[in-house]
Amino acid sequence: MSFSQDVKAEILRRKVTRPCCCTAAAYAVACFGKYFDDRGIVLQTETEGVATFAQKMYARCGISGQILRKERTAGSVVYEFSVKDPDEVRKMLTLFGHTGRETALRIKPGCFKCQQCVSHFVATAFLCCGTATDPEKGYNIEFLSTRYQLSQQLEAILAEHEFHPHRALRKGANTVYIKAGDHIEDLLTFMGAGNAAMRIMEQRMYNEMRNKTNRLSNCETANLGKSVQAAVQVQMAIRTLEDAGALETLPEPLRTTAKLRMQYPDLPLARLAEKFDPPVSKAGLSHRFKRIQQAAQRLSGAPASEGKEQHA
Ligand SMILES: [Zn+2]
Repeated sequence: MSFSQDVKAEILRRKVTRPCCCTAAAYAVACFGKYFDDRGIVLQTETEGVATFAQKMYARCGISGQILRKERTAGSVVYEFSVKDPDEVRKMLTLFGHTGRETALRIKPGCFKCQQCVSHFVATAFLCCGTATDPEKGYNIEFLSTRYQLSQQLEAILAEHEFHPHRALRKGANTVYIKAGDHIEDLLTFMGAGNAAMRIMEQRMYNEMRNKTNRLSNCETANLGKSVQAAVQVQMAIRTLEDAGALETLPEPLRTTAKLRMQYPDLPLARLAEKFDPPVSKAGLSHRFKRIQQAAQRLSGAPASEGKEQHA
């Protein structure tokens, strides 16, 4: 499933409890579907669940509509939800406060009765005409509409809730879109798609970390892996000596070095060197590590030139 489909599936799992919110959702189907006039409404969608959801919302408003499954020439399937029966259309127009003969469709604010109404309206608008880009590829969420006034008003609603939307005409479609990751996250949460919001958040955190790593100089990045590896090897050597009870036989500077390394296992060499009293140089500390490793090697029977390492 695409990210868009995940978002839609999550919205569809959300419960619409209040009757006013049902009306708001049904209203969004009318506004962001294919047709809405005095002959009724038509919503076309590739997601069967969206058509079923629309039918359910209308049914709860006391309006019955049909779902048709249509095969396209390319082999894909489109589900069409429609309200066409004149009696049902009349009920619907009365409910929404429209004549169906408006030259330009405008959202009636009277259709929003409670705090949740707007959230269900926007979420349903997304079900009908929205797409969201996979966060791994980029941040974008958009609503497409053939109606200029409607997209302008949707932009205003989104702006009012501080989602920072933009609007553009793309290939003849009025597009309301949001580009910033944090605002997309907020909008997804607002629409009831908390898991999708979490995915955006995780991606943003990942990108931030990667950017931070990229900002380190190449030299530092290249050394990062090596220095971690070296630190682990030293710690293994210290453990070997410790297990054999040989740590205490080492000269005092090496014992201190081993103790401090185990106390601060993650500290980079330069920072660890500062922990010594008096501080030692990075090169000096590196040399001590080498001697600890050689001592561990001697224990495990590997040949080493003993004479030299005995002196601090
Ligand atoms: Zn409501």
